[in-house]
Amino acid sequence: MVEINFNHRQPTDVIALRLIDELRTFQIDQDSKQVTIGAGLPYQSMEHGEIANLLPALAQAARTVGSPQIRATGSIGGNLGTCSPAGDALPVLSALNATVNLQKSDSARFVSIHDFMVGVKRNSRQPGEIIVSTTLPIVSGWQGYAKVGVRNAMVISVASCCLVVDRANGAISVALGAVGPTIVRCRETEAWLATKIDLKSKSTVAPKLLQEFGDRIAKESKPIDDHRSTAAYRRHAVAVLSRRLLTRANAQ
Ligand SMILES: Cc1cc2nc3c(=O)[nH]c(=O)nc-3n(C[C@H](O)[C@H](O)[C@H](O)COP(=O)(O)OP(=O)(O)OC[C@H]3O[C@@H](n4cnc5c(N)ncnc54)[C@H](O)[C@@H]3O)c2cc1C
Repeated sequence: MVEINFNHRQPTDVIALRLIDELRTFQIDQDSKQVTIGAGLPYQSMEHGEIANLLPALAQAARTVGSPQIRATGSIGGNLGTCSPAGDALPVLSALNATVNLQKSDSARFVSIHDFMVGVKRNSRQPGEIIVSTTLPIVSGWQGYAKVGVRNAMVISVASCCLVVDRANGAISVALGAVGPTIVRCRETEAWLATKIDLKSKSTVAPKLLQEFGDRIAKESKPIDDHRSTAAYRRHAVAVLSRRLLTRANAQ
């Protein structure tokens, strides 16, 4: 609607996806350890309850979206459809290696979130396809999301970060929002950290390691100056957010 109001788009047909009940549901499969969230499920359904228990980082991200009114209507399908690098659900989907489930009248396909997001407000959805749902793994280990904006609430991210500890696979994943043309997955820092932390031990992260971790995360970000902030501040912000999340993960 924003794009139509600004005359950036003049669609000939508009479909009310909100009226499709199947898009507003979720399923939990404990056998495959996966949660599938319908593209139209509003954020408010993720803030508490079963989804929040299994995917706490998604719940945290959902709680930061807009206002109660926006969370009652906005959905992950909309976040994926817009594919803004500042979309709050997207770093969580990236850090958890989610799958996007797409469907058109005669076929369906499953696309890795990393292949779905291709650039600033660009995704690999084909004409005629709708986003039906996204599937996320249930991971054992701490996970969290943090965001910086120009005020505390009702704010689009200036920088954001999701950190997921996957104890079963001995991995920590980190994804950043609003600091690149699309979500930035910090694979170099993840590989470096895997050589430094034994996920089975409960030892605290040494201050020197924490400092280097944030510095490396900042180096992997690709921010720009724009009307919301500067590249320099964004780099600083992701270093601070990622150190904060790793400290919280380590305290568990
Ligand atoms: C006041 C305000 C505050 C906001 N604050 C935030 C914020 O803090 N964080 C944040 O991330 N976003 C924010 N937003 C943006 C927006 O609300 C969210 O991105 C939300 O996720 C959009 O979801 P929606 O269901 O309303 O999608 P819509 O706005 O209806 O759709 C967005 C785009 O996605 C497409 N789309 C939607 N569903 C599908 C589907 N199933 N298949 C294919 N394409 C689809 C639409 O065609 C459209 O191009 C804010 C918006 C407003 C107006």
